[in-house]
Amino acid sequence: MPALPEIEILRRDLEREIVTRRIKDVDVRPGTAAMKTFRRHGRRKEVQELLTGAKVDAITRVGRRLLIDLDNGKVIVVDLADSGSLQKTSASEPIATHTHLVLAFTIGGQLRLVDPAKTSEVFVASKEELEGMDELRNFSIDPLEEQITWHHFSGLLEERAAPLKALLLDENFIVGLGDVYSDEILFVSGLRHDRMSDKMSSQDVRRLYRALMETLQEAVKLRGSSGGDDAFTDLTGVAGQFQMEHKVFERDGEPCRRCRSEVVREETATYVTYFCPQCQS
Ligand SMILES: [Zn+2]
Repeated sequence: MPALPEIEILRRDLEREIVTRRIKDVDVRPGTAAMKTFRRHGRRKEVQELLTGAKVDAITRVGRRLLIDLDNGKVIVVDLADSGSLQKTSASEPIATHTHLVLAFTIGGQLRLVDPAKTSEVFVASKEELEGMDELRNFSIDPLEEQITWHHFSGLLEERAAPLKALLLDENFIVGLGDVYSDEILFVSGLRHDRMSDKMSSQDVRRLYRALMETLQEAVKLRGSSGGDDAFTDLTGVAGQFQMEHKVFERDGEPCRRCRSEVVREETATYVTYFCPQCQS
């Protein structure tokens, strides 16, 4: 799953690569898989009519959704969900299997959406329509968008009274961190996954807050985490480096980078977690 840092990397890439470009051609690929991606639209032609000829004005983000603002009052909303990826390619590059959308720009280059497992969704709506959609309002913490104060963060932790790992995985609490970043943040903060969020000293809260900000900023700087089978790649197909920095995630049985004791994998009823029993308490 592309988590918050990876989505922010794509947002910045798109900003650099496609803002001011004009859409010449819209190809919603043949087959039912592509229309599943465009499940809110009845026909391919509808998508083509909404997008053809429009210029890209801005790229924004609401939670894990990317919003491509156009100069015709429309917005393309892209939710990559668990398995989608975006690629900027030349027009001559062969179209990969599982490509569901190809946007061709007038001065060359294409933006393509690829998704083998078909979990992603794309739709086009007017700016007014988007304002009325609750799903496009983000009520959870977004540490890369708006820095919340330490004090506010402390209050939210106390309200929730949940194990820290469960809370960091909860998208209603904080924007898509996923398993990798929640485990890494807890390691950096020195806190165990099962510590209750309402039973923390102010020093614990500060450590968690700092670990959260630092880890996510570092992940963006290192262009995301690209371990595993469905490894993340940026808009130009380059993998990230953050997986080299993982301190605990999927390192069970290996020595902790800080204290040399063994990193542990633990499964609870609701999540799987990796941590160092020495460094985290
Ligand atoms: Zn350790």
